[in-house]
Amino acid sequence: MPLNVLLLGPQGAGKGTQADRISAEYGIPHVATGEMLRAAIAAGTELGRTVESIVNAGELVPDDLMISLIRDRLARDDTDAGFVLDGFPRTTAQAEALDAMFNEIGRTFNVVFSLQIPDEVAFERLRRRAKVEGRADDTDDAIHRRLDNYHRETEPLIEYYRTRGNLVTIHADRSENEVFTEIQRALDHVAVTR
Ligand code: ADP
Repeated sequence: MPLNVLLLGPQGAGKGTQADRISAEYGIPHVATGEMLRAAIAAGTELGRTVESIVNAGELVPDDLMISLIRDRLARDDTDAGFVLDGFPRTTAQAEALDAMFNEIGRTFNVVFSLQIPDEVAFERLRRRAKVEGRADDTDDAIHRRLDNYHRETEPLIEYYRTRGNLVTIHADRSENEVFTEIQRALDHVAVTR
C-alpha cells in the first residue's frame, strides 16, 4: 500500500526540509508546488509567465491552475508508492478538489502532519533564509502577505483534515532532528498498521 503524506504548516515551519528527509527515508517523491512553480518561472514556460508576478508578490496562484498542476503531477508513475505533498492544498477549494481526485483513483492520506510554530519564529526564520537563498518572495512585504494568506486560507485545513482523521500535530519550533524523529515515529506506526 502506498504511503501518502501531507505536510501542513506556515512558511518557515520547515515543511520543505522535513519533506526532503521523509522522501529520502521512505523512498517517495517530494511534491512541492512552490518548487514546481519556481521551476516553471525559471524555464519561462507559459505557466511560469502566467504566475511569476503572483508568486513574487506572495499571493496565491488561482485554484484552477494549481489543481491541474497537481493532477498532472500525481498522475506520474513515480508516485505509485506514495508521495509527500508540501504546498498543496492551500485553500478549501484545493482540498475539496484533491479529495475528488483521490476518490477517483482510490487514494487517501495515510498521515497529515500539522507543523506548528509561532509567527514570530516563522518570520525570523524566513528573514534568515532570505539572506541565504535570495528568493524573490522573501521580502518583508511578501513574507507578511504569505503568512496572512496562510492564516486566512490554509490554517482552516487543519480542522478539515482533523475531522477526516490521521492528523498528527508536531511542534516545529525545535531542531530539525527532533522534529524528524517525531515524524518518523508517526510514519513508522503507519507503516506497520497500513
Ligand atoms: P512558502 O510556503 O514559503 O510561501 P512555497 O514554495 O510553498 O513557499 O510557495 C511559494 C509560492 O508559490 C506561494 O507564495 C504561492 O504564490 C505559490 N503557490 C505554491 N503552492 C500554491 C498553492 N497550492 N496554491 C496557490 N499558490 C501556490
